[in-house]
Amino acid sequence: MTYDVLIVGGGINGCAIAREAALNGWSVLLVEKDDLASHTSSASTKLIHGGLRYLETYDFKLVHEALQERKRLLKAAPNLIHPIAIVLPQDNSVRPWWMVRAGLYLYDALAGFGNLPRSRMLGRRDGALRLPLKNDTPGFLYWDCTVDDSRLTVLNAVDARSAGADIRTRTALTSAKRNQNSWTATLSDGTDVQAKALINAAGPWLVHVEGRLGQAKRNSIKLVKGSHIVVPRLFDGDHAYMLQQPDRRIVFAIPWVGGTTMVGTTEVEVPNPDHPEISAEETDYLLNAANTAFTRQSNRNDISYSWAGVRPLFDDGTGDLRTTTRDYVLEVDQQGAVLLNVLGGKITTARHLAEDAMSRLGKAMSRTIGTVTRGRPFPGGQFPGSFESLVEENRKAWPFLGPERTLRMTVAYGSDLGIMLAGIGTEDAMGTDFGHGLRQVEVDWLIEHEWAKSAEDILWRRTKLGLAFSKDQVATLSSYVAKRAGCAGE
Ligand SMILES: Cc1cc2nc3c(=O)[nH]c(=O)nc-3n(C[C@H](O)[C@H](O)[C@H](O)COP(=O)(O)OP(=O)(O)OC[C@H]3O[C@@H](n4cnc5c(N)ncnc54)[C@H](O)[C@@H]3O)c2cc1C
Repeated sequence: MTYDVLIVGGGINGCAIAREAALNGWSVLLVEKDDLASHTSSASTKLIHGGLRYLETYDFKLVHEALQERKRLLKAAPNLIHPIAIVLPQDNSVRPWWMVRAGLYLYDALAGFGNLPRSRMLGRRDGALRLPLKNDTPGFLYWDCTVDDSRLTVLNAVDARSAGADIRTRTALTSAKRNQNSWTATLSDGTDVQAKALINAAGPWLVHVEGRLGQAKRNSIKLVKGSHIVVPRLFDGDHAYMLQQPDRRIVFAIPWVGGTTMVGTTEVEVPNPDHPEISAEETDYLLNAANTAFTRQSNRNDISYSWAGVRPLFDDGTGDLRTTTRDYVLEVDQQGAVLLNVLGGKITTARHLAEDAMSRLGKAMSRTIGTVTRGRPFPGGQFPGSFESLVEENRKAWPFLGPERTLRMTVAYGSDLGIMLAGIGTEDAMGTDFGHGLRQVEVDWLIEHEWAKSAEDILWRRTKLGLAFSKDQVATLSSYVAKRAGCAGE
């Protein structure tokens, strides 16, 4: 068989394009060398946002597009994506008050109507929001959204598969030969596949994959590492803080799983995308940002977890990492069978990027493309009432789950939880207990429906239970998954 399109890379961009292409009726093969979202797409700040700070670099198009996507995503995955209030303490030594106020007005205007609440100044009634801060300076409150980035990536792949896409994880593209009308690609399992078009969505490995396609080396990509640390809760409440730094960067402090706060991010140019890790300097930078802002102090011993990811940014020649554009660039090359390269992008704008990519591919291959995902819910994202009423229904349907697990599983699976737990009436009926509320029925679901093949896939990318698990618990889960995933014959 000759696929219409072969997509290299199972991050948010590759999976979103697979969804868009499959729903347009194209035959799709997506290959991912590791797990879905195992790199940049699980290492983000987990915000679905317009990017307030991009206004400073006049990236109005990006901010407008991202804010429209924020609105769409909130409707399409109301279980997974939630509004969050962000406190922005004012620091006149970094930016004047009027500039921040004007930026927030513009942000609200670009978001348009029917979106999240509009920004406002912090007032007397906001004592609880100001209390955790060392200096009770004036400031602002505005709204964006949070997301579980890796789950959103996986759900793109699940939706793509429901429309016929073939998704193969732990399968790398090792080389590809370009003919006039098709590609012949060799995969790491030794098989050869044919496709009419090839999409290089390998994120930070774009140049590496170009080498495997026999393309010339380019200089138009910048690899910029960003890191986060996780510390014990720095403040109470569900809101976040956006902290202005003396170097004009911003650092977010956002509530995270298990009563923690994540603090990030940094920007450090790196020579290659492999095994990014937080450095001592980045750790100190983030600790300093948090300790300068909050009364609750943290040190290196308080850090329970950290992660680093590499942004594959299009080098727009600005030379400054802070101001390098976060917008995506798509390149179509028709010297033989079609090749499309994806550079840059954001978790927030991946659906828009995918629509744009398919429209360009459609033109290049003389095929009509429809707008198939604009109003389409993600798997588990369609339910009649509000998210809160779904949590309440699930609490009544499976009272033995307890409030915390009901909330966690409703966020993760939305209305699909009803399918996962159909016919289950007791805790014991959920099968083996792997600890911290993770039971066999959920693990089996993740193996059968979401390509989970290791304990790490389950603990860090399909759920965020990894922080709670002991080494022994991970080992027990690993051996179960190895046996079960082997039997699933994937
Ligand atoms: C620190 C940080 C914070 C961020 N915060 C946000 C945020 O809050 N909100 C937001 O919207 N965006 C954010 N972003 C941006 C966003 O995370 C990225 O733009 C996005 O994840 C990039 O996705 P991708 O699919 O291009 O790359 P990736 O997720 O890295 O996917 C590329 C995939 O290609 C695979 N691959 C490579 N070579 C091969 C091969 N030969 N064969 C098969 N597969 C291959 C890799 O294994 C990888 O999984 C952030 C980024 C960083 C780094």
